[in-house]
Amino acid sequence: MAAMREPTPPTGQQKITLGEMRSSGVRGLLVYCADYRCAHAVRISADRWPDQIRLSDLEALFVCQACGRRGADIRPDWDWDTQPKAHRALSALARCTPL
Ligand SMILES: [Zn+2]
Repeated sequence: MAAMREPTPPTGQQKITLGEMRSSGVRGLLVYCADYRCAHAVRISADRWPDQIRLSDLEALFVCQACGRRGADIRPDWDWDTQPKAHRALSALARCTPL
């Protein structure tokens, strides 16, 4: 028997769900400002949202606190369990250049 799985239409780039992210051991999110010139980023916990939510579903919910732009680019925070320090967030930014 196939599991209950809704067909997902190919609407551009679909991001993974929080459940898929958690299954790979990641519990945090990196939220980047959608404006690459701003590049403001914050690290948050994903614990408040259920497993079926996609990272792309959350992107429209964020407003940048630095420039006020609506929308964000959300990625799994692979360093979620390390000490949250400002300089670590900056080094993560340098490592994860936008596509
Ligand atoms: Zn911004």
